[in-house]
Amino acid sequence: MSENLSAFLYLVASVCFILSLRGLSSPETARNGNILGMVGMAIAILTTLASPEVVSYTTIIVGILVGGAIGTVIALKIKMTALPQLVAAFHSLVGLAAVFVAGAALYSPGAYGLGTAGNIGAASLIEMGLGVAIGAITFTGSLVAFGKLQGIVSGTPVRFTGQHMLNLAIGIGIVVFGVILVATESHTAFWILVILALVLGVTLIIPIGGADMPVVVSMLNSYSGWAACGIGFTLQNNALIITGALVGASGAILSYIMCKGMNRSIFNVIFGGFGAEAGAAAGGVDTGDRAVKSGSSDDAAFIMKNASNVIIVPGYGMAVAQAQHALREMADILKAEGVNVRYAIHPVAGRMPGHMNVLLAEASVPYDDVLEMEEINRDFGTADVAFVIGANDITNPAAKTDPSSPIFGMPILEVEKAKTVLFIKRSMSAGYAGIENELFFKDNTMMLFGDAKKMCEEIVMHLDS
Ligand code: NDP
Repeated sequence: MSENLSAFLYLVASVCFILSLRGLSSPETARNGNILGMVGMAIAILTTLASPEVVSYTTIIVGILVGGAIGTVIALKIKMTALPQLVAAFHSLVGLAAVFVAGAALYSPGAYGLGTAGNIGAASLIEMGLGVAIGAITFTGSLVAFGKLQGIVSGTPVRFTGQHMLNLAIGIGIVVFGVILVATESHTAFWILVILALVLGVTLIIPIGGADMPVVVSMLNSYSGWAACGIGFTLQNNALIITGALVGASGAILSYIMCKGMNRSIFNVIFGGFGAEAGAAAGGVDTGDRAVKSGSSDDAAFIMKNASNVIIVPGYGMAVAQAQHALREMADILKAEGVNVRYAIHPVAGRMPGHMNVLLAEASVPYDDVLEMEEINRDFGTADVAFVIGANDITNPAAKTDPSSPIFGMPILEVEKAKTVLFIKRSMSAGYAGIENELFFKDNTMMLFGDAKKMCEEIVMHLDS
């Protein structure tokens, strides 16, 4: 294939990726966006395969078969609730790939068109140094995020004196060895740089608390894009440079949106300061002997049947219980009885960006019924019922009232303003941030203890009868 034709096809693939991102920005067009992304990827892969520089098709086919088989098994087996940690694990692989590609290019520059060993151009060494540093940070940072989300590593922030100084020293070390690498092409400098960046990935992510994990997940997403972009420069592959930059930039925008959703500054999240007091691991909360009002599915059905306005607030527990279908059925019955039912989505509800939107779309909830926090928050004051299903932190008023709380400053869905607040959850346990929710003890709150799906199914039964 001629160089011009492959450049043109890479351009077509890149346009597909850009249109795909545009499609993915709204649930209505997300399916088409996904298809465009797949078409773009197919064009990019076929163009690469047709390139005259391909040395061995056997190695490529074996790689595709092994990788494809592992990917297919994981995709078939993975539970919806484990997707966030899977995404983190996949990001780590992108980082590792960047380290390997940079290492391979350093040892065999001729194979990458980068000249001969000892004579690699400064620009290529700079690209290599940047790519390998970002890649190594992404690798270990994503592994720690994976561990935290999977519950293997405690979600409680790990802090020690001199942490910021240590991070700063490692950062300076990375720059120094990067400069030595560019000046001398020293293999030792390269590997010291790799080790320092691997350590920085760990020390940057361990102090981040449970409540701030959304920002970390989206930030690592962005890093993995820049790491891929770095590989693109080393491999001199325009499609990879553009795709990496798209992932890097969209991840950065997502981090910004997440920070805005949580009212955090990105620097506060990265360099500590928030989310430090409590962590994800907290399972139970000492509620003392304070009384809570608990009700049954029958009570909930009665209250909602007699309501005019119901706002549903889904959270992580809905995902765990896979309650979205039963929930939609419940909402459909209420709507048929003339109740105005809408869904309120908090930007960090669940465990990954867009988690709730995906589940509700899967259950065919009409998009028009699903409203973002800013669109619906003022309506809680006129709602008869806030139906909180498996959500906790995103409704917790401590975010407004308790400056010592790890979620202080985060905007919340103001469910307490509704006449009645129904909370479906299995126990009095805390949410991801590990803190008590005062709302459970309020006079207008009724706790519906049980699994979210089972509770919705029972409510449906009572509404039907
Ligand atoms: P929370 O984690 O605060 O609360 C979820 C609640 O669901 C728990 O209190 C739990 O209580 C309940 N629950 C769990 N399983 C079930 C079940 N089967 N049936 C019924 N209830 C269940 O979730 P929110 O969505 O309110 O808040 C998200 C939190 O996660 C925030 O702190 C956010 O910062 C963090 N986060 C968000 C990410 C994102 O990108 N969106 C990424 C990483 C973290 P019980 O055990 O009593 O049932």
